[in-house]
Amino acid sequence: TAWWRHVEAAPKDPILGVTEAFLADPTPHKVNVGVGAYRDDNGKPVVLECVREAERRVAGNLNMEYLPMGGSVHMVEETLKLAYGVNSDLIKDKRIAAVQALSGTGACRLFADFQKRFSPDSQIYIPVPTWSNHHNIWRDAHVPQKTFHYYHPESRGLDFASMMDDIKNAPSGSFFLLHACAHNPTGVDPTEEQWREISHQFKVKGHYALFDMAYQGFASGDPEKDAKSIRIFLEDGHLIGCAQSYAKNMGLYGQRVGCLSRVTSSRVVLDQLLNVLSMVCEDEKQAVIVKSQLQQLARPMYSNPPVHGALIVSTILGDPDLKNLWLKEVKGMADRIIGMRTALRENLEKLGSPLPWEHITKQIGMFCYSGMTPEQVDRLTKEYHIYMTRNGRISMAGVTTGNVGYLAKAIHEVTK
Ligand code: PMP
Repeated sequence: TAWWRHVEAAPKDPILGVTEAFLADPTPHKVNVGVGAYRDDNGKPVVLECVREAERRVAGNLNMEYLPMGGSVHMVEETLKLAYGVNSDLIKDKRIAAVQALSGTGACRLFADFQKRFSPDSQIYIPVPTWSNHHNIWRDAHVPQKTFHYYHPESRGLDFASMMDDIKNAPSGSFFLLHACAHNPTGVDPTEEQWREISHQFKVKGHYALFDMAYQGFASGDPEKDAKSIRIFLEDGHLIGCAQSYAKNMGLYGQRVGCLSRVTSSRVVLDQLLNVLSMVCEDEKQAVIVKSQLQQLARPMYSNPPVHGALIVSTILGDPDLKNLWLKEVKGMADRIIGMRTALRENLEKLGSPLPWEHITKQIGMFCYSGMTPEQVDRLTKEYHIYMTRNGRISMAGVTTGNVGYLAKAIHEVTK
């Protein structure tokens, strides 16, 4: 008998399971607002023009050699400029240890493994709710998880007071996972003023922030604006970590292009070094050391990251014309989503729904946390062939001029 006979089926992934169910439904008017993948107004997946052009340019020059363990140096350089700013002193001073990662998921996982290896007794504070995979990532890295308040169900906004209490009450020097912008699944972000208060309190408590930035450009349409949270933390001198992904903002989902970076200083690296080797370094040297350790984590997992997507990204961001085209196209995607928020809300209000729907347009990014109950979502799926996660999260990227009326009507019916 097979030695794996005792193995039971793994639970379905709450997000990817929705896509499976959607694909299996033969109804022509079915709607998928489950997975967070951008669609055009005809509901079709999009390959950006800048990506097509970059592909044409790299096609002739591409060889299939391995990238270094830390990935494409050029891609990483351009990626850091996006998060930290083109004129960042941290970049100039080479104080950021950064490696290409297997998209945002891989970047988070590398961080979690690094955390476990060099701060083995630490925990991670994760917002409630969060992207469900965060829990899997830190679980598999064997880092205990704590939660902090984030969403306020009654106002369908931020529970800022409870969040600040949790930050204050966490033991000094705790690790926190923060969504840099366009929080998934709620679409609720702190305001600039609130970010300043959060950053201040992190300073007081000596907490460490890992920013997961999977949607830079998707929130406001401007990648610079969407990096505001990170920039505020940097202004305050925090040594942050940052996980970046090009899945959404360049539409490179399956290419798995991302980046993990962390700002270093003598103090933090010294702490880590005590676990590795005892050596006090200059700042730049410390970044080199941390990078070498990140590469060391990557080596037995996947050796080195994929080359094609990295070349596309570095080609786009390294060419001013292509970069401008990209900026226009990200804004186009963000604007379409913002437009669909307005349309969904207006449709619901026109139908005479007595419920408050302002949060649809107040929330930001790819998702609308509708406030629907799991039972209401079940009815949407069963009776209307509308597919979404049971937490009531609507992927606004799947809403189109063609289906918004139908979606609104169905939501109105199940929330009556
Ligand atoms: N973090 C968050 C909050 C996300 O929503 C996502 C995508 N759903 C990711 C990270 C990473 O996605 P990917 O690995 O495809 O870049």
